[in-house]
Amino acid sequence: MTRQTADCFAVGDRLLGAAEALELIAERVVAVTEAESVPLGQALGRVLAADLIAGFDVPPHDNAAVDGFALRLSDLAADRPTRLPVAGRAAAGRPPVELAPGSATRIFTGAVLPVGADAIVMQEHAREADGWVEVPQGLEPFANCRRAGEDVRQGEAVLRRGHRLRPQDLGLAAELGRARLQVHRPLRVAVFSSGDELRQPGEALAPGAVYDANRFLLIALLEELGAQVSDRGILADRAEPVRQALAEAARDQHLILTSGGVSMGEEDHLRAAVEALGRLHFWRLAIKPGRPLAVGQLGGAAFCGLPGNPVAAMVCFLRFARPLALRLAGASAIEPHAYPLPAGFAFRKRAGRREWLRARIVRGQDGAVSLERFAREGSGILTSLVAADGLVELPEDLTDVRPGDLVAFLPFYGMCG
Ligand code: AMP
Ligand code: MG
Repeated sequence: MTRQTADCFAVGDRLLGAAEALELIAERVVAVTEAESVPLGQALGRVLAADLIAGFDVPPHDNAAVDGFALRLSDLAADRPTRLPVAGRAAAGRPPVELAPGSATRIFTGAVLPVGADAIVMQEHAREADGWVEVPQGLEPFANCRRAGEDVRQGEAVLRRGHRLRPQDLGLAAELGRARLQVHRPLRVAVFSSGDELRQPGEALAPGAVYDANRFLLIALLEELGAQVSDRGILADRAEPVRQALAEAARDQHLILTSGGVSMGEEDHLRAAVEALGRLHFWRLAIKPGRPLAVGQLGGAAFCGLPGNPVAAMVCFLRFARPLALRLAGASAIEPHAYPLPAGFAFRKRAGRREWLRARIVRGQDGAVSLERFAREGSGILTSLVAADGLVELPEDLTDVRPGDLVAFLPFYGMCG
């Protein structure tokens, strides 16, 4: 095989498959951020650095799931209603009371089940008058009770190291009495754009210039991941300043994220700079949009060079840079969720590369859901991402999508808004 020939080989470097690249990220990349203890109220979105172990049962004691009357089943007749005198009162937040034999205790939701009681009748199913209550037959053991430990057992790992904390996780940690959690420190990421044509929004646009869209897009995506972003501006198309800027960022950042300047053009200096300063693991993938997508290492910092076209930059971020950043930040679940949904379109693609289409979820008149593809698919068309609800991921071996075929849909929800 000669170099520079087939589409599946780059100059001297093999065009890597998306699966191999993702495997490399999942298996070779390890957490680089240290652990710290933070108050529960500041832990949302952070990655747990230690398993969360329950120190006690939840609920800690048997308690009432409803308002009603606590009783002993052995005091009830099996085939007809039973009348019991009401003695005592059990309210939430009070120590347990005793249930006198042959009686019922008025009880309220959340109250500890009285000692000796083994069921609760709902007040809607009981008739109370003059200090007596009539209880229907057929109550099951521990009816309308929440049992101690039914939610969580003492010693159980309720959340694992590497889990990104969601609101319900904080609720659970609070239920377990935890005021602070061990989490990973935020990932420090330096973000660069690259290209002499780029201008900062707000500046005048000279002929031939365009505004830098990627830096704002990528910084926002990283902030949604909980990263601590350092905005390093625009790199000129000149070798020496590029090298200097990367070397400086590598000194104190965990990850360097760039866009543009990684293909084979004469003005693409990023790849050369990474090769000179560190190591490039791969830089071309069999994907569309994208292809030039570099991943490497610069001293202590990981490097990810995204393509310059804004659509390609976002797609490659979501599918490759995001898993990389999550793994560096200590997270264990790093791949986006994919859901099979019927395509509402036909599409032909080339075998051998993985492709992503921008799509919207639409509901037909019959209520059935399908995916509508954005018609204009150029990788510079940022409006296609604005109009989309997510990405359709088409595997390497697939060549034909027909309307109604189930395709993998990766919703933006949860990844970027
Ligand atoms: P490159 O990968 O540097 O060859 O860039 C590919 C295309 O993406 C060119 O048309 C660039 O002008 C465009 N591009 C690169 N970076 C950005 C950016 N930050 N914002 C908007 N467009 C960009
Ligand atoms: Mg460029």
